[in-house]
Order: sequence, then C-alpha cells, then structure tokens
Amino acid sequence: MSIQQVSSFASGQWIAPGAGARNIASAITGEVIATAGNDALDVQAMLDYGRNVGGPSLRAMTFHDRARMLKALAGHLNQHKQALYEASFDTGATQSDHMIDVDGGIGTMFVFASKGRREMPDAQVYLDGDVEQLSRNGTFLGQHICTPLQGVAVHINAFNFPVWGMLEKLAPTLLAGVPAIVKPATNSCYVTELAVRLMLDSGILPAGALQLVSGGLGDMLDHLGMMDVVSFTGSANTALKLRSNPVILENSVRFVAEQDSLNASILGPDAIPGTPEFDLFVKEVSREMTTKAGQKCTAVRRIIAPNGQVEAVIEALSARLAKTTIGDPRLETTRMGALVSMGQKHDVLEKAAIIGTEATRVYGDPDSFTVDGADADKGAFVPPMLFHCADPDNAQRVHDTEAFGPVSTVMGYRDVDHAVELANKGQGSLVASVITHDAEVARQVAMGAGAYHGRLYFNNRDSMGESTGHGSPLPHMVHGGPGRAGGGEELGGVRGVMHYMQRTAIQGSPDILSAIGQQWVPGGTEIEGPAHPFTRKFGELSIGETLYSPSRTVTLEDIETFANFTGDTFYAHMDDAAAKRNPFFPGRVAHGYLLLSFAAGLFVEPNEGPVLANTGLDNLRFMQPVSAGDSIKVRLTVKKKTPRNEEYGEVRWHVTLTNQADEKVAEYELLTMNAF
Ligand code: NDP
Repeated sequence: MSIQQVSSFASGQWIAPGAGARNIASAITGEVIATAGNDALDVQAMLDYGRNVGGPSLRAMTFHDRARMLKALAGHLNQHKQALYEASFDTGATQSDHMIDVDGGIGTMFVFASKGRREMPDAQVYLDGDVEQLSRNGTFLGQHICTPLQGVAVHINAFNFPVWGMLEKLAPTLLAGVPAIVKPATNSCYVTELAVRLMLDSGILPAGALQLVSGGLGDMLDHLGMMDVVSFTGSANTALKLRSNPVILENSVRFVAEQDSLNASILGPDAIPGTPEFDLFVKEVSREMTTKAGQKCTAVRRIIAPNGQVEAVIEALSARLAKTTIGDPRLETTRMGALVSMGQKHDVLEKAAIIGTEATRVYGDPDSFTVDGADADKGAFVPPMLFHCADPDNAQRVHDTEAFGPVSTVMGYRDVDHAVELANKGQGSLVASVITHDAEVARQVAMGAGAYHGRLYFNNRDSMGESTGHGSPLPHMVHGGPGRAGGGEELGGVRGVMHYMQRTAIQGSPDILSAIGQQWVPGGTEIEGPAHPFTRKFGELSIGETLYSPSRTVTLEDIETFANFTGDTFYAHMDDAAAKRNPFFPGRVAHGYLLLSFAAGLFVEPNEGPVLANTGLDNLRFMQPVSAGDSIKVRLTVKKKTPRNEEYGEVRWHVTLTNQADEKVAEYELLTMNAF
C-alpha cells in the first residue's frame, strides 16, 4: 500500500513532506497510511504572503462579495463531499460521523454566507450599534465601526473534526476579510488537505486567502504581530503553552481558545421513567457518548440525575449502549468506529482509570468487547464505558478529567440547586443540557449555571421533534465556554466574525460619520434630487437624497373616520375627557397609524415606477401627540442602499414627521425594494 504524502500549501505552492515529517496510522488497522510535515517550511514567507497578497484582495471586497464567495465554496465542497467521506474512514469515523463533520462544516459555511448578506452591509465597514448623540445640537456624533484586521488568522485545529473544525473557523475569518493559515491536527490532516485542495482548485478564493500547514507549525507563532489572530481548538495543556508564548503576550495577539470541557447533562426532577423526557434523556446521552466515539468537545462527560433515578438511568443507558455495534466504520452495521489513534486509545484508557479511582465502572469493559470487521488490538477501538460516582460532592477527578472517548459518569443530585452545583464543578464548559418539561427548573438552572457555560440546551417533549442535539454547535449560536473550556467564543453568527475585526470608536460630524459608515446619519447633508425619489431607479438614488412633502391638517373627522373604519376606537381617540385624564394626552388625539397612513399619502408617487414593494418599517417611534387642527409634514431621506440581486435592491429611508411647530411627532425607517 502506498503511503499518502500529505502536503502543505505555502505561499501559493504545494510543498510535499520533507525532513521532520511524521507518520500517520490508520485508526482501524494501525498501519501507516500517510506522512505529513516539513521542517523547511518558510513560515515567515507564509505570513507575509497572507498579509501582503491575501489580505488586500479580501479587504477590497465587500461583506456581500465575501458572503457570495463563501456560498460558492460551500456549494463546491458539497458537490465533492463523497471524496471527503471516503478519505475520512481511516480516522475511525463512521458515515454518520462524516455527515456531522463534512455536511456540518459545509452547512456552517452556508449559514455564514447567508448571514453575511442578510446581517452585514454591502460595504467594507460594519457598523456596530447606533449613532451616539455626543452633543446637544447633534453636530458631533459617535459611532462604532469594525474593519478587518490587516494580518493573518492562524487556525490550529483538533483531530476530531478535520472538515468542520476548519470550516467553522474559516467561514467567519474570510467573511471578516482576513486570510487564514490552517493547521489541522496531524492525525487526521489528510482529510483537511483534501478539503483545502478542493477549495483552492475551485478557483473561488483570491490568492493568499487560504494556506495550509500539514504537520508541525514550526516557529510560526514567534512571528505573529498585533494584526494577527490565533484560533485554537485542542487540549488545555497545548492552549496554555501556546497562549503564553512571549511574542503573543507582548504583541497582544488575539488568542481564541476552545479546549477541554467536562460537559454535563441534567435529568430534570420531573423527568421520571415513563415520561417522554426520561426516554429523550437516555437517547441524547447515549448518542453523545458514542457519536465520533465520544471524541467531541461537546460530548456529555457527566450525567447528573435525581438520586432516586440514578439506578433507572444506569439501567436504561446500559441497555441502549449494549446495542452499539463497534467495528470497522466502513461496515454499514457499525454504530461506533475507532478513536483516531492508538495514542488516543492509551490516553482514554489512562483517563478512564483516573475516573475509576472515584467511580465504579457499571458498563463497558475495555478488556472484553466485540469489534466487527477489524482487529480490536490493532485498531484504536474502545467500548462505551459508563461510570457511577456515588459521592460527587467529595470527588474531584470526575469533574476535571476529560477522557476524550465514549466515557461518561453518572452522579446523583438532591435538588436543582445541587444539580447546578455539580454542573458548575466542571469549572467552565462548552455546553450543559437539561431535559425537563418544567420551565421553572429551566429558569433555575439558567440563573445558577449560565455563567459557567457557553451554551445551555433545554429539551423536552415540545421541542424534541426539531431539536438539534446537545452536542451540535450551531453557526447561529455561540460556541465556546469560560474557564476550563478556554474562555473563547466562536460562531454565534456575526459575533464570530468580530474576532477577526477591530472595533473602533469614530467621533465626528454627521457628514464625516455618513461618509465612513456609507449610510446617512441624521444631521448630515440632505440632497435635493432632480425628481421625486420614487421615480428614480436604485442606481440613481444618492445617499442623503431627500424629499420634503407639503403639509396636511389633521381634522376630528379624519380621526373619527379612521376609528370607525379600522375599529380602533380606543378612548384616547374618541373620548376627550378620558384622554385628558391620561398623562400622555392633551385630549383626543390622532391614531399613530393614521399619521403613518397620512405620511404615506404625503410622500407617495402613485404611478408605476422603480419602487416595487414596501417591505417593512423599523424603529418606529411616536414622539408627540397630534390633535385635531395640527398639521403634519414628512421628510424622507435615502439612508442606505443594499443590492439584493441583479434586478433590485433595498432602500432604507429615514422618515421624520413634524408638526406645524417643526417638532418631531414620529420617526422611523421605511424599507422599499427598488428596481435597478
Ligand atoms: P493537542 O492540544 O495536542 O493538539 C491540538 C492542536 O494543536 C493540533 O493541531 C496539534 O498539532 C497542535 N499543536 C500541538 N502542539 C503544538 C505546538 N507546540 N505548536 C503548535 N501547534 C501545536 O490535542 P490532541 O489533538 O493531541 O488531543 C489531546 C487531548 O486534547 C484529547 O485527548 C482531549 O482530551 C483534548 N481535546 C479536546 C478537544 C476539545 O475540543 N475539547 C478537541 C481535541 C482534543 P499536532 O496534531 O500536529 O500535534
């Protein structure tokens, strides 16, 4: 059998393994299948290439350009995922494990592509929060902006998810406009190398946006500067070693870490045997123990059940685990494959023995279990192992030892506060789950355990049909956790993109802020266009272009007609004496929605034209009551333009209604779709 040469991709060149290369064995047979690493890799040149070639190209694009690029990349990988599945079996993973890794990674990229287009502007600057009023007359304002870091993101990944682990970091990095150097764990780097080859061969990425180090990273971290970021997933020991690198400390290099985590799952006191929640709990926990043979940063390591249910939980879990067929992951009948390497097998057995000093093994014997289609001694196979800790209050190792395999410990609790105390003994974890149908239990856990966990997952009979699983980090939600879990945060939608951008407070006049943020700021120059703005196409409209409407007097008859027509006969509009008793109103007033309707009547251009649809209204505020006899007028200003497709784009209009004394009575943002 030929040994695969796993290459690196450095400064635009594929570099084959060389001096210092490490051998990689199949998790199933123990035979060497690949080799990776080259001590001669010029890491400084790689950093320079990313910074000087990849960075400028990515920064020249808008968020929407980069989101479209992510979508194309994800689509390309999707077309070639069969090859990624094939390559993944030797890591010990089953077909359903591949789907979590490969499809999960591609799905994550698609979500970032979508969020980039929906939640970020078609511009190079991201605005963080609203304009801050820093002066009485509004001539000096504040705004926070985010711009891409002008360095390189170095991604150091764990062995367990060679595709998802890369893509979940790469998607937010590229969306931010920052090039990446990916360093997968050596044990499974041949899968990552294939995914990188696919992405590079697609021609979708600009040169320098993505480089790969297969094998050791050399002294790359010693060359990082303030504009670079390290995103790490792996063990707490390695994280500590890397984040204490003097260059990283001296240059305040951002270091995002996701490391060991003693995740817990709590069975609610209401979830007794016979309830849908009890069955759900057993199903979720056994799935978390055996998926990826327990090599998941989010896997359930501690099973926290009411004292009275411990026995029932052990019995039900053992029965379910007994159905887990272990074997060659290529066999369709196999439910659980192997650990990634013999090294990991030794590590897991060693850690299980440590847990065994405080807990009794109640299911699974590493010295006696069946492996289908492979040699149990040559491959990195272990059986699921369930422990029971009878005294979790005085135990320590069950709360701090992560056996990175199918190993979990059941422990009993007295009441919900005690369950929270035990969950928090993990000293910070990525996720804790609670299976309960009692919302009060959920609230109590959220208050007591929220600060100790990056994610809390609640599930019960109402949500189980659509829930995504305790162990699945979702691109929309934060992934990371405090304390032992590394103190980092990944994903979380646009929050995840921010790790690769610098937030800067901008202070200046409205026109300065408008120019930088590429959207009109109140107080900024108002441009009078050559014609009614609703007659002008998307591309013709300028930011700041403003329409001033004539005024209209509101009569008592208008108010009554509107009340009777809509059925909104609220006393403030109908009963003068009652309205006067209300501190908000001088007497009968016009409906806010009547004012909005009049505003539309004042600014509309009735003929067929480029305005295709009114798609919504944001940030509506009624600021002053309008009484019969008052007159109102409208100012409509183009605030922001966002192309949506080839045919039309969204125009966000700033709308202000004022009365005869020029006081604001209402303000909002109107959204229209306008043809190009
Ligand atoms: P490591 O921390 O050893 O490795 C993680 C990553 O760091 C790998 O890419 C590794 O590369 C790299 N790395 C290691 N040393 C250095 C260094 N000096 N400079 C630069 N990069 C380095 O974790 P393992 O993958 O070996 O797993 C060990 C244990 O970590 C597991 O048993 C488990 O307990 C825990 N773990 C936790 C995870 C989690 O998400 N919670 C995920 C994975 C592991 P290389 O492979 O080339 O050494």
